[in-house]
Amino acid sequence: MQFSSVVRDLPVYIPGRPIEEVAREYGLDPKEIIKLASNENPLGPSPLAVKAVRAFLRKIHLYPDGNVFYLKNALAHKLGMKPENIVFGNGSNEILELVGHAFLERNAEVVVSRYCFAVYPIVARLFGAKLVEVPDLNYGHDLTGMLAAITPETRVIFVANPNNPTGTRVPNESLVKFVMSVPDHVLVVVDEAYFEYLEDPPDLISIIREGRRTNLLLVRTFSKIYGLAGLRIGYGIGDARVIAMLEKGA
Ligand SMILES: *Cc1c(COP(=O)(O)O)cnc(C)c1O
Repeated sequence: MQFSSVVRDLPVYIPGRPIEEVAREYGLDPKEIIKLASNENPLGPSPLAVKAVRAFLRKIHLYPDGNVFYLKNALAHKLGMKPENIVFGNGSNEILELVGHAFLERNAEVVVSRYCFAVYPIVARLFGAKLVEVPDLNYGHDLTGMLAAITPETRVIFVANPNNPTGTRVPNESLVKFVMSVPDHVLVVVDEAYFEYLEDPPDLISIIREGRRTNLLLVRTFSKIYGLAGLRIGYGIGDARVIAMLEKGA
């Protein structure tokens, strides 16, 4: 057998292990273990979410609606966007992978920061793209340095704000200025997995809403503050043309 050279040489992403597994290995009581590795919500899901899932159980013999009609419309309404500005994925991790499908290929370049979220380098390499890692600024993103790393070959630039694993964030004004400065030929992916934890979150969604940038994709998730990591629901918000391309590659 001949494996894909890309997959063969891919570093393995090691996720936080389930509590039960660690308890078994070390002979500990699972109740005494607190897991911090995956940023799961320690408060658990909302009782309303549990009720909704329970009511749905009678329908699990049916395939889901691939177009996610009801959730997409409800979310679009909440965000003040149109349904065609939203794409859902199996967790926001799948949105990151869809970016690879839709934008990357051999010789494409991907710009990230040192200490970036572990999935970005994996996506870049999976599609044979070249990873350009910009040195960090006190463990955070050096946005000026990242802009300077863009070449005609650059297809995607990833910024997690707040960042995982370092917990840093960039000032809102710097982020807006950065998003407005990235050249048109590059997709800016701002990963907002922890957006809802910020008391003064940056307003990037209005940039998409007002059509001021068509090359901006915001990535959010129901896994973190909403405590629904097990349901695998993430989404991207962007210009309708970008969203259509992401859905095509799914
Ligand atoms: C947790 C996390 C994700 C992925 O979460 P999903 O469960 O796949 O939605 C994406 N980006 C960052 C920065 C994260 O911390």
